[in-house]
Amino acid sequence: MVGESIKLCLSNLKLRERLHAQATHDSLTGLFNRRYMEDTLWRELHRSHRRNSPLGVAMIDLDHFKRFNDTFGHDAGDSLLRELGQLLRTKLRQSDISCRYGGEEFVLILPDSSLADTQQRVEQIRGLIKELTIRHGRELLGTISVSAGIAAAPEHGSTAAELLRAADNALYAAKQAGRDCVVVYHAKQS
Ligand code: GH3
Ligand code: MG
Ligand code: MG
Repeated sequence: MVGESIKLCLSNLKLRERLHAQATHDSLTGLFNRRYMEDTLWRELHRSHRRNSPLGVAMIDLDHFKRFNDTFGHDAGDSLLRELGQLLRTKLRQSDISCRYGGEEFVLILPDSSLADTQQRVEQIRGLIKELTIRHGRELLGTISVSAGIAAAPEHGSTAAELLRAADNALYAAKQAGRDCVVVYHAKQS
């Protein structure tokens, strides 16, 4: 009886864990989902304010992903998103939060990273993505580049909405500058 009760208890716990993971993660990439990121950004901003420590935010978008899909097919595009998810999950710090923000857009939250640190770390991620060998089944596909916009608290805003807007404006500027680059938010961009 006791053994059965323990088993039931454990399987309930596992089920709860699985449901929690499903509610907070994107199933294709294994990254956090947008909802989780928005809740977390709010919390991280409070923490950074309290501790007087910086917080970096990056918005990353694949370059010409429509063309990649058109050339290699949508399934190959999905494989790429999966590999990118794995790269972001393994190359960032445990305390960083990487999320799939939309279709082919990603947001990174980097606690305790100043603007200069954030820029350097996102540059590094951009380089790694460019070197990524994208496999689809047995086939090796072409490479892909990304553009990124970055912003940081406290200098670019004190709310989640302000920071995301600043990073998005900088991302737009990166696309305008020819893609495959990281741009830091500048007030003149908005
Ligand atoms: P840009 O460099 O300006 O960002 O060009 P782009 O082609 O990447 O941008 P656009 O917004 O025109 O296209 C985004 C593409 O992303 C179109 C859409 O089919 C693709 N996409 C979005 N979500 C998914 C997905 O889950 N899987 C696949 N395979 N493609 C996706
Ligand atoms: Mg996009
Ligand atoms: Mg794109």
